[in-house]
Amino acid sequence: MDRTSVDAGLLQSRYRLTKQRAAVLRALSDGMHLSAETIHARVRTNLPDVSLGTIYRTLDILRAIGLVQVFSFAGGAARYEAALAKHHHLLCSSCRSLVNVNADGLSDIARDIATQAGYTDIDCALTITGRCSTCSSPP
Ligand SMILES: [Zn+2]
Ligand SMILES: [Zn+2]
Repeated sequence: MDRTSVDAGLLQSRYRLTKQRAAVLRALSDGMHLSAETIHARVRTNLPDVSLGTIYRTLDILRAIGLVQVFSFAGGAARYEAALAKHHHLLCSSCRSLVNVNADGLSDIARDIATQAGYTDIDCALTITGRCSTCSSPP
């Protein structure tokens, strides 16, 4: 499991980020996977005038630079996270919580399968679904 957080301050100076971009990264710096609405709520505690539209535009820019990754799944809003090393996800089908997991061996298997089928530029992003331990335990 990898819950590594991101040093927003370091990224801000390295990429000369605007106040808004830095605020969005800071909202994501605890390593969580957040919807744009949640990011908006967090950013507004420091920058009250920022609109949701600005948050979406800022997220697009940060994605283009490679500082933010987006995770989408059927039936749920897109979730954003600060760009960490390549990882896979555990998704709880009940509470929709997302947890990062490293599964290096799995990427190797995926690469073998795709290579044998003649594919190049192979990428593998796995989502394992199930019920998390909180949702599985009796109330
Ligand atoms: Zn759950
Ligand atoms: Zn993730």
